[in-house]
Amino acid sequence: MKLGFSKTKRAFAKMALSMYEGEPCRVCGQTITDASKAVYAGYSLGDKARSAHEHCWDKNTPKSQWAYPNDAS
Ligand SMILES: [Zn+2]
Repeated sequence: MKLGFSKTKRAFAKMALSMYEGEPCRVCGQTITDASKAVYAGYSLGDKARSAHEHCWDKNTPKSQWAYPNDAS
């Protein structure tokens, strides 16, 4: 399944950016230290992660290889 972004979601993500610092990247699992380079990636199972480094996101890594691959139900 591919995640898509509407313009509205991107705008929302920009507003919410500062909340992402200190949270894990859904793709690589490492802590996000610069929220200005993060994107909203949807909530993972258990709300453990909801953002990703922009460079990780843009790699289009198969979701099965993400650090947090499962979506919140
Ligand atoms: Zn990352």
